[in-house]
Amino acid sequence: MKILAVSDQALDRIYALASNGQFKDVELILGCGDLPYAYLEYLVTILNVPLFYVPGNHDPAENRNRRETQAQGGSNLDLKLARFNRFLIAGFGGSVRYRPDGINQYNQLEAYLRALRLLPGLLLNRLQYGRTLDILISHSPPSGIHDDDDPAHQGLKALNWLIRIARPRYHFHGHTHFYRNNLSNWESLVNLTRITNVYPYKLIDVSH
Ligand SMILES: [Zn+2]
Repeated sequence: MKILAVSDQALDRIYALASNGQFKDVELILGCGDLPYAYLEYLVTILNVPLFYVPGNHDPAENRNRRETQAQGGSNLDLKLARFNRFLIAGFGGSVRYRPDGINQYNQLEAYLRALRLLPGLLLNRLQYGRTLDILISHSPPSGIHDDDDPAHQGLKALNWLIRIARPRYHFHGHTHFYRNNLSNWESLVNLTRITNVYPYKLIDVSH
């Protein structure tokens, strides 16, 4: 299954790529946060495939009564699970807390408590499908992987824990911009999990 994953920066050229048919085989769009919802809605309209996304630290808190706090045509997967094309998918929004009043920001303990809320659904997956998770999407990277030392870009340890217990084949995240920390490496393998920094977009073929 071909996935278009996007995060952090709306690219002018993605409009050209989409209209040139570059994404014609894409069956699913994953949004890893910090993108204008109009950009996600445009991609859904053009590609006409499902969208799962998580909010980033620059996105608004979701309010079901306010249209501008959601991407229309997509599903906010923050702390939720979904199944698509037999792939088990889970989402974890937000970043590490670096401002006391920041939205979609969590300190390391808060992030662990949030991750625990995914446990019942993950256990049900295990019972029902014989595996816990195939794809994890988050805005933040895990701690020590594609993250940075400054207060706003440290990874969340709760994500390392989630990856350890749920063992997804794929983890997609955003939040880390290459130009800031000069990372040349956007993909890492941790045990059996392929961790991909999506910024600003990646086309990835996933298999069972
Ligand atoms: Zn961010």
